[in-house]
Amino acid sequence: MMVVFIPGDGIGPEITNQARKILDVIGSKYSRKFQYEYALLGGVAIDEVGVPLPQETIDKCMASKAVFLGAVGGHKWDDLPGHLRPEAGLLGIRKALGLYANLRPTLLFPQLKAASTLKEEVLGDGLDIMIVRELTGGMYFGDKGREEVDGDERAWDVEVYTASEIERVTRLAFELARDREGHLTSIDKANVLESSRLWRSVVEKVSEDYKDVTLNHMYVDNAAMQLVRNPHQFDVIVTNNIFGDILSDEAGMLTGSLGMLPSASLGDGNIGLYEPIHGSAPDIAGKDMANPIASIISIAMMLEYSFNMKEAAQDIYGAVKGVLDKGYRTADIMEPGMIEIGTEKMGDLIAQAI
Ligand code: NAD
Repeated sequence: MMVVFIPGDGIGPEITNQARKILDVIGSKYSRKFQYEYALLGGVAIDEVGVPLPQETIDKCMASKAVFLGAVGGHKWDDLPGHLRPEAGLLGIRKALGLYANLRPTLLFPQLKAASTLKEEVLGDGLDIMIVRELTGGMYFGDKGREEVDGDERAWDVEVYTASEIERVTRLAFELARDREGHLTSIDKANVLESSRLWRSVVEKVSEDYKDVTLNHMYVDNAAMQLVRNPHQFDVIVTNNIFGDILSDEAGMLTGSLGMLPSASLGDGNIGLYEPIHGSAPDIAGKDMANPIASIISIAMMLEYSFNMKEAAQDIYGAVKGVLDKGYRTADIMEPGMIEIGTEKMGDLIAQAI
């Protein structure tokens, strides 16, 4: 069971150490032998081998079952041309691994309700929504261009989807819903966009195979509103690339802190990529201040989706809750009356609780 760790830049190495610590503990608790490889990506790869995504990194990932990615980027590399910047490595690795579905849970632990932008009565006893965003199609990858016509400038980005692209991500979302509360909301703009009308008809067709899951459709403008009005109506959401990009950031902020948000990217290739959604946070790098919980929960997702170890994943969620219950907080989620600790200590406490 090969796992590749890609620490990256800034706080990347610090949070990766904590993620690895947790996988070690789970390995011994469940007598599972994880083997580890380390690989370069982002600024550190530019410094060491001259490109943000070395071929060796792709090869190592392709030979693995799961990849953990810390974070990449930093001011040092900001002036490089686009294709040589650290972030180009991120898009490159997702593409190389054929990852077409991005899973972004909006998980608000009840202990951290004060950090949310929503009112207490809207939050109830916490939030647990899974957003599935299509990752390799739509207008981010469609035909784009710019031209001058009769002295006026014109630009376009084409929103294009095939039925098979929609079907594969929809199936994945239905499977997830089946394992959760059994409810899927498909978000589109079918009142205006032809690509959304195709999206909706494919989702309807796939739903024939998932009669046990309730399906509803929602226009994206309404969905943006409903997420802040009554987020508890959602269980699993599936949507296209651009709507998912925007809605998952909106939903993420309902939980209050970037340091708590994990993600998984999956495809047909049997390799999963797991990463916190935050960046390399150069402002706090090397200060033992980064919150490692997003990375630690990303490991829980890895255990669930790549290794089918749901019980071990639950152990991690339970341990995180237990440590928060005892009042321990990193600086980003600190509240009066709590105990402030650093990255390493948070990792240690969660590992001990497991
Ligand atoms: P960022 O997510 O790195 O930081 C935004 C703010 O959140 C900062 O104040 C930071 O200190 C804080 N923060 C982030 N993660 C935290 C954590 N785990 N614990 C506590 N505080 C945390 O976003 P940015 O500052 O816009 O970007 C910094 C660099 O990261 C840029 O080079 C950007 O391109 C890159 N980036 C990388 C990824 C990625 O690797 N997936 C994602 C986003 C941004």
